[in-house]
Amino acid sequence: MTAVFPFDNSYARLPERFFTRQPPAPVRAPKLIALNRPLADHLGLTLPEEDDTLARLFAGNDLPNGAEPLAQVYAGHQFGGWSAQLGDGRAVMLGEVVISDGSRFDIQLKGAGQTPYSRMGDGRAWLGPVLREYIVSEAMAALGIPTTRALAAVETGEIVLREGRMPGAIVTRVAASHIRVGTFQFFAARGDTDALQALLDHTIARHFPDAEGPAGLLDAVIGAQARLIAAWMGVGFIHGVMNTDNMTLSGETIDYGPCAFMDAYHPEMVFSSIDQFGRYAYANQPQIAAWNLAQLATSLLPLMPDRDAAIEAFTDAANGFAGRFDAEWHAVLRAKLGLATAEDDDIALAFDLLNRMAQGGADFTRTFRALCSDTPQDAASAFAAPAAFAPWLEAYQTRLTRETRPATERAIAMQAANPALIARNHRVEEAIQAAVGGDYTPFHRLNSALADPFTDRPDIADLQQAPTEGERVTQTFCGT
Ligand code: AMP
Ligand code: MG
Repeated sequence: MTAVFPFDNSYARLPERFFTRQPPAPVRAPKLIALNRPLADHLGLTLPEEDDTLARLFAGNDLPNGAEPLAQVYAGHQFGGWSAQLGDGRAVMLGEVVISDGSRFDIQLKGAGQTPYSRMGDGRAWLGPVLREYIVSEAMAALGIPTTRALAAVETGEIVLREGRMPGAIVTRVAASHIRVGTFQFFAARGDTDALQALLDHTIARHFPDAEGPAGLLDAVIGAQARLIAAWMGVGFIHGVMNTDNMTLSGETIDYGPCAFMDAYHPEMVFSSIDQFGRYAYANQPQIAAWNLAQLATSLLPLMPDRDAAIEAFTDAANGFAGRFDAEWHAVLRAKLGLATAEDDDIALAFDLLNRMAQGGADFTRTFRALCSDTPQDAASAFAAPAAFAPWLEAYQTRLTRETRPATERAIAMQAANPALIARNHRVEEAIQAAVGGDYTPFHRLNSALADPFTDRPDIADLQQAPTEGERVTQTFCGT
């Protein structure tokens, strides 16, 4: 059976200066690692059965009918420094599929070879980042957090040179779109107002059909990003490389490079090996998002007839991010604590817990999960230094006496807001190390466990546990 993708490639119909037409570079010996069948079904793909044929397809050696492969161009601020020319340097988009409810998804091969935007890079990816993206993006989807998805992973049978000779791999990424803050910046920096207008129209039609003009788009993106960052923070997720080229207009999480979930809570936690100054630390994420959105606002200014009035309005909009984020974050915290009624001191109570967790070295996921149980005092065992927890628990239980929702209902709601399982960094690393040695068992086991993160399951207790001192992995490396 040949592959059938229901393609309708709207980005390829935009002006030629939006991209370069670029087929993926075939690889030597493609081998299938994983195919996400539920996602393939959701996308309405008809796929061949044989692993070899699937491997050739997801390696880019065979193209599905109707693919119009291209590399997108964009710009961006990386760690605050401006790059006027970036783009898909190791990714090729095959096209867009439209599913039965009308939603549209990009299908992109990441690690597919060089493009005009590769600069000094080889256009390839090694197995580690491919598996990390596969595991973590699918974990985020299962947690209900907006994200790009992973449709497939293949080995290329080629070696890529990184810290050493590493096995090459390709991940097939699925996204509502790959339009980034940096895509707008690219055309704004060139003074290409026609392209900017075309990009605006395309983005509004695709993601926010009710938005009116640049101001409407800006408002919608600010809202989507406020929700997204609050959702990240609610599960202890640290993106690690929130450059403007890694922030989508759709509000999906994108670019799983040096990302990780925290084990022990600390607001200054950083995993990325290249983030020396903690620019993208856990608690900095809302400020960075606001900064990125201010860059988007600046990029939209050329589309406004009255520039001075627009500067004022857009400055207000960008400054409004902080309040909108706080509202979302506070809602996340209230859900995590199971507070259905609202009292003035609720957020202070939540922050007090977080402070005690930081001081007491408490595992973020296990602390909150224990609070959902019949024995919330067990949360103390998630603390390295538990003494600070008991007084807080007393205050919390006093607060709960004023809740009107029955305790059984509260417990169910809290379990849906506090996962039992996250993609713990040491488990992700363990799966990668095993795969490099040819054993994909831990990778597959971790993936299938992460598909159901809100249920306590004794058979995966080892994946739920916090790392021991010796197991802890505190650094991750960029996806390159
Ligand atoms: P990232 O930090 O992963 O968002 O990547 C930043 C930029 O570097 C993007 O334009 C990528 O396409 C490009 N890039 C990263 N790795 C490679 C690579 N191995 N070959 C070519 N380009 C790359
Ligand atoms: Mg990127």
